[in-house]
Amino acid sequence: MRVGLGYDIHPLVPGRKLIVGGVVIPAEFGPKGHSDGDVLYHALGDALLGAAALGDMGTHFPDTDPRWQGADSAIFLREILALVTAKGWKIENMDVNLHLETPKLKPHVASMVKNICQLLGVQDSQVNLKAKRGEGLDAVGRQEAIAAQVVVLLC
Ligand code: MG
Repeated sequence: MRVGLGYDIHPLVPGRKLIVGGVVIPAEFGPKGHSDGDVLYHALGDALLGAAALGDMGTHFPDTDPRWQGADSAIFLREILALVTAKGWKIENMDVNLHLETPKLKPHVASMVKNICQLLGVQDSQVNLKAKRGEGLDAVGRQEAIAAQVVVLLC
């Protein structure tokens, strides 16, 4: 078994789509980033790469590469899954913390889980997502940022 840890944070700016776990959430702001800025998919990608000792998202998909400008982050996860699978690993489970002050992410968690299951070929019993607020503290609490933490177990 192998454990992997992923973390990602993006600043929130007006005029960007708020996409989390592949779900477009109604908001007047979204994550600034080279790709679509999906913090959940980015943290998940880093956790998978980390568990398999395959480096990190920034090395595989550099933000200087025009191919990834505005990219759907699902592309990254598909490629990472192929790399991890090629090493002989299977996903056992993942646990996720999502950090956003507003809007509430909880109503969208089931859709995010469904997207992850479809992308990675896992069951919803293997995916746990928790939506957390920043309680007014730090960048998340001041509505300046969205962040995600992921732990993944491979077997
Ligand atoms: Mg990112």
